[in-house]
Amino acid sequence: MTFASPGLSWQEMIAQSLCKARDLAAHLNVNEHLVSRVMDQYPARINAYALGLIADGSRAVFRQLVPDAAELEETSLADADPLCEQKQSPVPGIVHRYPDRVLFLVSGQCAVYCRHCMRKREVGGRDPVSPETIEAGIDYIARTPGVKEVILSGGDPLMLEDDRLFSILARIRGICHVECLRIHTRMPGMLPRRITPDFARGLARFHPLFVNIQFNHPDELTPAARSACALMADAGIPLGSQTVLLAGVNDSPAVMTELMRKLLTARVRPYYLHHPDPIRGTAHFRVPAKTGLAVIEALRGRIGGMGIPHYMIDLPGGGGKVPLLPEHVIQRSEKELIVYNFEKKIYTYPL
Ligand SMILES: *Cc1c(COP(=O)(O)O)cnc(C)c1O
Ligand code: SF4
Repeated sequence: MTFASPGLSWQEMIAQSLCKARDLAAHLNVNEHLVSRVMDQYPARINAYALGLIADGSRAVFRQLVPDAAELEETSLADADPLCEQKQSPVPGIVHRYPDRVLFLVSGQCAVYCRHCMRKREVGGRDPVSPETIEAGIDYIARTPGVKEVILSGGDPLMLEDDRLFSILARIRGICHVECLRIHTRMPGMLPRRITPDFARGLARFHPLFVNIQFNHPDELTPAARSACALMADAGIPLGSQTVLLAGVNDSPAVMTELMRKLLTARVRPYYLHHPDPIRGTAHFRVPAKTGLAVIEALRGRIGGMGIPHYMIDLPGGGGKVPLLPEHVIQRSEKELIVYNFEKKIYTYPL
C-alpha cells in the first residue's frame, strides 16, 4: 500500500480507506476476529493519510483510530447518549441546548472514525444526512430568532462536497438573526488534503466564520496539517482547537504542553480541552478530573495565556459545558486572599 499518493483527491483517499476488519488486520498488527467483533458495534475508517501517521510510528494515532477489544467492555455508568442530545433536539439534526446557539449535524461521516468519539454509535451510517433533514434544520434556525450562532458539526461537515457545504452556509447566512457561523472538523489533522486553496477561499465568503479543529496529539501537526491550517488562517478564518483528554494519548503535562505550543505556531488558538464524556465503549480512555486539572496547572507555568484552553466537563442530562479550574486560592477572608502562583509561591492579595 502506498500512503497518501500525491495524485489522489481527498475523495479518492476516503474511498481507499481501510474499513474492513480483514484490511485492518492486513496492514496493522491486530487480530482480525477481535477487530471484527468491535466493528459489529462501532465503525472503523482509517484513510491512507492517517495510516501514514501510524506507519510513521505514532502510537497516539494508533490508539485513537484502531479498534480495541476494550470498546466492548460496558460499564454501568456509560450511556449511549449521556448528554441528552436526543431530548434537546427539536428537529432531527439540530441540538438546541443553549438559547443563543445550535449544533447542526450536517454529516454522519468522517475521514476517520475515532475510538473515543462521543457519537460513536451514530457516526458512520451508510446513508448521508438527507436533503429533507437539512431543509428542516435550516427551517428551524430561520423560525427561531434567538439563534445567533450556528455550529456545523456531525460527523464531519467537511465530508460534504464544497458545493453542498457552501450552499448550506449560504442559506444560513441568508437568515438575518444568525450572526456567527462555526464549523467543527477533524479534517486538517486527519486528511489535510481536504483543505484546498479553493475551499479556503470559498469559506471566506461567509465571514464571520470560525473553524474549530480537533487535535489531540503533537504527532497530528505534520507539515501537511500545518499547511491546511495556514490556508484557512490566510483566508481570515480564526482557528481554534478542541482537544479531548484521552488516557494513553495525551494525559500528561509534557504531551499537552508540546501540543499547545505546536497549535500556536500553526496559528490555531487552543479553545477547549474536553474531559472525556462517559460514553459507552470508551472506558479505556477515561481519566480522573485531577489529571486534567494537573495539565492545566502545568500549562499555566510553561506557556502564555494564548496557549491555555478552557478545561470543560459536559454535564450529564444536557446541563451543558462547565469549565474546571485549578484552585489557586488557599484561603479567603473579608480582607484578603491567600493565593499561590505558577511557581507555587504563596502571596497575600488585599481585597
Ligand atoms: C458544545 C456545544 C455547543 C457549543 O458550545 P461552546 O461553549 O459555544 O463551544 C453548542 N451546543 C451544544 C449542544 C454543545 O454540546
Ligand atoms: S471526527 Fe469527530 S465525529 Fe468523527 S469519529 Fe472522530 S470524534 Fe467522532
